[in-house]
Amino acid sequence: MITLGTASAAPGEIDVGRLEVGESRDGATVGLPVAVINGASPGKTLYMQAASDGDELNGVGVIQRVVPQLDPAELSGTILVVGIVNYHAFQVAQHRNPIDDTKMNRAYPGDERGTSSERIAAATFEVARRADLILDLHQGSTSRMINEVRVRCGRHHRMHAKCLRLAKTFGCGYVLDQKGPDGQLARAGPDAGIPTIDPELGGCVGWDEESIQKGVRGVYNVLHEYGFLDGDAELESQTRARGFDQYGSPAGGLVRFKQELGNEVSAGDVLFEVTDVFGQLKARVTADHAGIFWRSRRLPQVATGEYVCSVGINTDTY
Ligand SMILES: [Zn+2]
Repeated sequence: MITLGTASAAPGEIDVGRLEVGESRDGATVGLPVAVINGASPGKTLYMQAASDGDELNGVGVIQRVVPQLDPAELSGTILVVGIVNYHAFQVAQHRNPIDDTKMNRAYPGDERGTSSERIAAATFEVARRADLILDLHQGSTSRMINEVRVRCGRHHRMHAKCLRLAKTFGCGYVLDQKGPDGQLARAGPDAGIPTIDPELGGCVGWDEESIQKGVRGVYNVLHEYGFLDGDAELESQTRARGFDQYGSPAGGLVRFKQELGNEVSAGDVLFEVTDVFGQLKARVTADHAGIFWRSRRLPQVATGEYVCSVGINTDTY
């Protein structure tokens, strides 16, 4: 029998339930929705979570599609799922946990006696630690972003090669290989010896069908490649960036992009223009270095210095 919160599944069974993480302000129990898929045959354990940032719903869309498709009779090993991590943020469709105004993915590995976010991080990390592989499903919040997978442990980490392999297996086409900030699950997982990736499934308001499909395919690639399911993953070469150039606006006004997401840009190529309300050009911003047009703001209006877009730099393929 494998248990996660109130969900318990014998070999060949699937069960759903709740993982209790304290109480809400009215005293009601807060329980994260969880699932256990216990394969008929023994094998590895995969941990997968979504909505660590409460406005990032594509990962929930992936889980909602993958779980009903899985047949525990065909599965070797176990899949542990937390479907919504940032419970309080999800309730109000926000990025950060409104109880402590914290980004969940800065709170790992968490603290069971800490803040609201630290306690949820601790409870979910305790589940993640039981796994051989960790997938932390994210997206570029509500901004526009390519589909990519992040390896956050840093290139000198002992788990780096294994994380890179997992990223290639998930196979969104693009990988960001850059050490992340403290508190990310994709840092805490490798520190505990577990290959961990942070698939960033585009960026949208609500759900994006193409990104969800890439996420579903990515999960199945992992299940095939690591022996949970029979059959082979389709491993494809990935375009890797090892950093970002971020561009802000030199003037206030309205942004007009001159690049599409995924475009290869050269140093000096125009990225965007800023115009005033009457259409007069105020500024034209060019790329400092070659790279890939990776992410951009959604709304056109900007103040001086406000974030506009990012270019992935130091690119190669692997
Ligand atoms: Zn996120």
